[in-house]
Amino acid sequence: MSVDRTYFEDGRIELTHYGSAAWKITDGKHTVLLDPYFTRLRYSGNRFGMLPANAAPGDERPAYSFDEIVPSDTETIDRHIQEATHVLLSHAHFNHCMDMPHIAKKTGAHVVGSYSATNIARAYGVAEPQLVPVRGGEDYDFGELSIRVIPSLHSALCDKCYFDAGIVPEGLRGPLPLKAFSEGGTFGYLVRFRHHEILMFGSMNYIEREVQGLTPSIVLVPSARPRLQIFRYTERLLRATGLPKVVVATHWDVQTFPYGADQSSALAHAEIFQEEVRRVAPAAAQVLPRHFETFSVLPGGQVVRR
Ligand SMILES: [Zn+2]
Repeated sequence: MSVDRTYFEDGRIELTHYGSAAWKITDGKHTVLLDPYFTRLRYSGNRFGMLPANAAPGDERPAYSFDEIVPSDTETIDRHIQEATHVLLSHAHFNHCMDMPHIAKKTGAHVVGSYSATNIARAYGVAEPQLVPVRGGEDYDFGELSIRVIPSLHSALCDKCYFDAGIVPEGLRGPLPLKAFSEGGTFGYLVRFRHHEILMFGSMNYIEREVQGLTPSIVLVPSARPRLQIFRYTERLLRATGLPKVVVATHWDVQTFPYGADQSSALAHAEIFQEEVRRVAPAAAQVLPRHFETFSVLPGGQVVRR
């Protein structure tokens, strides 16, 4: 959807983190969302290789089973998301994809994602012209913005036992139970804004040859513990992508904890990731964003935190 907006005069880009792998990134004219997930539900069971979710202290919310249909937290979504031009989905698990239909219908944004992710959109009645189903490798021109779809891999959950071969078929009618949100393949995205190239991922893995030779100015790197299953995860990614000037930790939190819960243990672990970055790319500017934090990056790569 084209919106009647103009670029920020100083050429900056603004990035807002919503926890999990969720982002809003805007150059003033375009607003790109990645894996916009706000519901942060608690679940029981370990479908998709996920660990059973512990409750945050004082969290009285019920834990949903994967057979249940869980409504999106539209109140929180509507407080934070007013518009979007593109919604990108790294994969179709519920904690990346379940809030997308509400946002897509509200904003009219293009929805870029796998066959599975776009079938979820269809199941909820997102208009067909908004859908951009991809299989990985596409490099799509949207006028003043382009998006290259990077074939990628899901996190190696539960000590590498993770494997979700499922897809979300066509023809479903929403609302869908949590178990319907199969992975459906995983992508990263290289988004080229006017002054910034941002490489972003929503899961703790990648395919080295698919990122080799990319030269993003900013990279969003999922940084929770499952990254430790991957051989030299941080070093190989940063070297393959030419040591980006700005390295942002993402997907660092305990995403079953509600907003406002104590994330100090997850933050402490994310600082270990930052130390890994420092060893490989000591000159990189690093950001470990808190929930709802917005920071800017100027065309020269300077980071401005509020
Ligand atoms: Zn997943």
